Amino acid sequence: MSTTGTISSGMITRRQTSTVDVGGVLVGSGHPIVVQSMTNTDTADADATALQVAQLAHAGSELVRVTVNNDAAAQAVPVIRHKLDRLGVGVPLIGDFHYNGHLLLTRYPEAAAALAKYRINPGNVGTKRRDEQFAQIVEVAIANGKPVRIGVNWGSLDQQLLTEMMDANAVSAEPRDSREVMIEAMVESALRSARLAEQTGLAHDRIILSAKVSGVRDLVEVYARLAERCDYPLHLGLTEAGMGMKGIVTSTAGLAIMLQRGIGDTIRVSLTPSPGGERTEEVLVAQQVLQSMGLRSFTPQVSACPGCGRTTSTFFQEMARDITAYLAEQMPLWRERHPGVEDLRVAVMGCVVNGPGESKHADIGISLPGTFEEPVAPVYVDGELRTTLRGDDIVPRFLEILEEYVERRYPNVTPAVR
Ligand code: SF4
Repeated sequence: MSTTGTISSGMITRRQTSTVDVGGVLVGSGHPIVVQSMTNTDTADADATALQVAQLAHAGSELVRVTVNNDAAAQAVPVIRHKLDRLGVGVPLIGDFHYNGHLLLTRYPEAAAALAKYRINPGNVGTKRRDEQFAQIVEVAIANGKPVRIGVNWGSLDQQLLTEMMDANAVSAEPRDSREVMIEAMVESALRSARLAEQTGLAHDRIILSAKVSGVRDLVEVYARLAERCDYPLHLGLTEAGMGMKGIVTSTAGLAIMLQRGIGDTIRVSLTPSPGGERTEEVLVAQQVLQSMGLRSFTPQVSACPGCGRTTSTFFQEMARDITAYLAEQMPLWRERHPGVEDLRVAVMGCVVNGPGESKHADIGISLPGTFEEPVAPVYVDGELRTTLRGDDIVPRFLEILEEYVERRYPNVTPAVR
C-alpha cells in the first residue's frame, strides 16, 4: 500500500490516502485534486466521442469517462483512443460498465487495454452471480495493470445487500430509520466491494471509491463515513445534480463542504446540459469550485462588485463581462507562454468611492466612475495607482495595460520565432 503524507492547501488539510495512477494522472492526497468529466455521445460513434473527449480535455478535464454499454461501444474504445492520440490528446479514458462489463472486457481485450481505469457499479454487476462477475472484471484489471473505481450509486444500490441490511435492522434491538440504513448500505457496498477486489488480487493502490447520492446532506454523511473507514482516494460528486443554476449550486454546496474537510481526491460535476448547451460546462464548474476554495488555480479570477445605486448604467456590467471574456479567450495562449498567469487577480469595481480599496488588493484593478462622479477610471497595479483613464476607450486601454502586466509579471517562456 502506497500512502502519501497529508498535505495542506492553505487552510485545508487533505485526508491522507493511497495514490492511484490512472493512465499517468496521480489521484490521492499527495496530488492535486483531479477534475474529471463524462461524455454524452454514443460511444459507438467513435468520431463524435473522440471529438467530445478532445473538447472536454481542452476545457481542462484531466480524466474523461465514456460509457461502454455494448459490443459496438467496446469495439469503438480503441478507435477513440487512436483518434485522440493522433490529435495529440493524451487524456486517459475511463470505461463505465454496467451488467455486462465482465463480458465486454474479456471479449474485447483491445478495449480493456485502451482504457486507463474501469468504473464498476456494485449494484449493476449482476444478481445471482454478482461476486463472480465482479471478480471477473477485477481479474481483467489485474491482467492489464489498471485501477478500478468502485462507484456505488444511490439509484442503483446493491439490492441484495440493502435487503440483508434492512432485514437485520428490522430485528435489531434498536432499529435505525430507513435513510440511515440506506446510507450505511452505500458505505458498506463500497467497502465490501473493495475488500472483494483486494481478495481477488487487486493492489490496494489500484482502487478509488465513490458513493454518489443526489442530496447534499446525504452526500456529506456518506463521504464522511467512507473517509473515516478507509484510505482509498475518493471520487466526489453528486449524482443527478440537475440543470443550470440548480445543478451548479447543489453540486458546489456538496463538494465545498467535503473539500473544506479535506475529503475528495477527484471530482466530477454531473450537470445536465441545457438543449444545445456545452458539455464542457461541467469541467469549468469543477475548476471554479476548486479555485474558489484555493485548492487549485486554472484561470485568472475577476473580482467585480455587485453594483448598486452608485453604478453608472450598464457600462460597468459590460466591462466586467468583457474583461472576463477576454481573459478566457487569452488563456489557451497565456497558459503556454506565461506560466503562473492562472493566479492573476483582476478587480473591476463600479465606483471610485469603494472601488479603489478592492482594486488595490488585486494584482490589477480598475474602478469606474459611478453616477455623478467625475468621468475618470483609476487603474491600480500591484496596489499602486498606475494611471487614470478617461474617455470612450477605457476598456481597450485597460486591456492593453493588462497585457503589458502579464508580459512583465509572467515572462514569456516560449522561444522566439526567427
Ligand atoms: S464598489 Fe461602488 S458601485 Fe460597487 S457596490 Fe460598492 S459602492 Fe456600489
